[in-house]
Amino acid sequence: MGYFEGFAVTLKKWGEGVTTKEYRAGKLDSKGEISPKDQKAPKPERAHGRHVLNRYEDGMEKCIGCELCAGVCPAKCIYVRGADNQPEDPTSPGERFGFVYEINYLRCIHCDLCVEACPTQAITETKLFEFSFTNREDAIYTKAELLVDNDGLPQHLPWEDWRPGEDEFTSGWMRATASSGKVQYENTVGWSGELGYGVRAPEMGQRHPGESPPDADTDQSGATSGEDQGSHH
Ligand code: SF4
Ligand code: SF4
Repeated sequence: MGYFEGFAVTLKKWGEGVTTKEYRAGKLDSKGEISPKDQKAPKPERAHGRHVLNRYEDGMEKCIGCELCAGVCPAKCIYVRGADNQPEDPTSPGERFGFVYEINYLRCIHCDLCVEACPTQAITETKLFEFSFTNREDAIYTKAELLVDNDGLPQHLPWEDWRPGEDEFTSGWMRATASSGKVQYENTVGWSGELGYGVRAPEMGQRHPGESPPDADTDQSGATSGEDQGSHH
């Protein structure tokens, strides 16, 4: 478009009033339905949106505060501090949990490397990307905002635009590559099919069904859970 044609468009629109449209507002038409042009387009299966911190099915937090996600982040936008679990009331399985967890969305480039690095699938990315901020504090998501609720669902923050039903299909996430690089694992979801509904592998191989628990004096390992205990007898 040339210089004068541009002015012609401006003059043509002059006096038409406000032309800015509300973003996919989801307004109902006279039939009580959302018209197609007012509906959001379906999101790609593996869209990278804002993160969540997941829980196991029993409600325990998956994050163990190891800081691998923070270490791998190219934008240096994750801040994690770990703390020791209270043995009588642990927050996560194992020794430590994520005590402080923050992601700065003014920096995040949604590369997913943090997700790839996480050993427990604690941090994953949803498809929720329709959010904006008017101050820096809102842009820095804290653990209280990132942690899924007791039903495994992300928290709907006031500045995020998601409609009823969108929170039910927020993940569909899988690793881009098998951790071993083996092609037979391509497209295989290695863990929860949906965010927050983590399936913790049963504690196999520790004792046979019906067998009594090991005597505390003879079992010095202190192991009570975890997939890496699979060969422990
Ligand atoms: S998606 Fe990438 S940039 Fe964003 S927090 Fe994770 S590693 Fe950092
Ligand atoms: S989210 Fe994962 S990688 Fe990051 S500190 Fe927690 S357990 Fe470690």
